[in-house]
Amino acid sequence: MLEKIKKFFENLETDSLEKQSNFLKNLLNQAKEEGKADIAKGNTVDDLKTVQTKYFGKKGLVPDLMRYMGKVSNKDKPLLGKIIHEFKTDLENHLNQIIADIEKAENNAKLEAEKIDITLPGTNTKIGHKHPLTIVEDQIKEIFTNIGYTVVEGYEIEEDYYNFERLNIPKDHPAREMQDTFYLNEDVVLRTHTSPVQARIMDKLCPTLPVKVIAPGKVFRRDDDATHSPMFHQIEGLIVDKNITFADLKGTLLHLVQSVFGEEREIRLRPSFFPFTEPSAEVDVSCGNCNQEGCRVCGYTGWLEILGSGMVHPKVLEMAGYDPKEVSGFAFGLGIERIAMLKYGIDDMRLLFDNDLRFLEQF
Ligand SMILES: [Zn+2]
Repeated sequence: MLEKIKKFFENLETDSLEKQSNFLKNLLNQAKEEGKADIAKGNTVDDLKTVQTKYFGKKGLVPDLMRYMGKVSNKDKPLLGKIIHEFKTDLENHLNQIIADIEKAENNAKLEAEKIDITLPGTNTKIGHKHPLTIVEDQIKEIFTNIGYTVVEGYEIEEDYYNFERLNIPKDHPAREMQDTFYLNEDVVLRTHTSPVQARIMDKLCPTLPVKVIAPGKVFRRDDDATHSPMFHQIEGLIVDKNITFADLKGTLLHLVQSVFGEEREIRLRPSFFPFTEPSAEVDVSCGNCNQEGCRVCGYTGWLEILGSGMVHPKVLEMAGYDPKEVSGFAFGLGIERIAMLKYGIDDMRLLFDNDLRFLEQF
């Protein structure tokens, strides 16, 4: 097509454009149709940019046509300008329209691809929860802080002195035998109970009154079977003040048991022996499984053993610097695993340490 146009201008005589303008227009209409055919072949914006360059770029058809402006007489210049302008405008408008259509379609396709289907089911976020031992420990802490106790912590690695001697446990007591206690060296043990916290807190507070603390934590014994673990958790309770009696102990423990297990449960105290309390009592809770009729859970006795307690031994008060003639106190210690097992009906303590989600998700 360019060749034909070139020839047209080469043969064009001066001042004769007007006469031949229809021929030129015809040529340019053909060029326009070719351009539209090129445009129709393009599928993408990039394809059409190539067409754009072919007609309107620096070396394109339209600039080529413009160069012939210099070849015609001044009289003919406006006419040629008009003809070229018409050609250019028609083709350019058509091309821009097609480009805009394609861009719109591409944009719609992109939006469609990015569309979020809000009817799809969501991904559930798993929310963790407390371990049953933590649930029980937190509950007991709350029961006691509500009645004025303070939560304190001791050391898991403890001096033999605090673990035994300060609790009036003489050298020949069975609890000191090697099969029960993990010794780190002659003087240092993994604490076998939370009771050393009693001695430590009295050392810290004496002569201040009252001492009113509970001390939760890990304890360690050389045991491992369905009802024992080498590591387990205890909570120690201690109160020291003027005029603390055995009735206070009994009332406090009844409050504890009924808060944990329910108002309908009862307690029973049986005389017992602990080196650091005098008198001492084992505390049982009435069996909730059989209402004291007797069942497999309670060994057909109607009662379940849950904790040890007693009035603080005068020697223990004395070693801390308190005068046992002036002050008295009670102490108790309970196993958190034992309480959790009774509360939730768990028959193997090892389940509490296996971290099996099928078990833990039940709480
Ligand atoms: Zn029972």
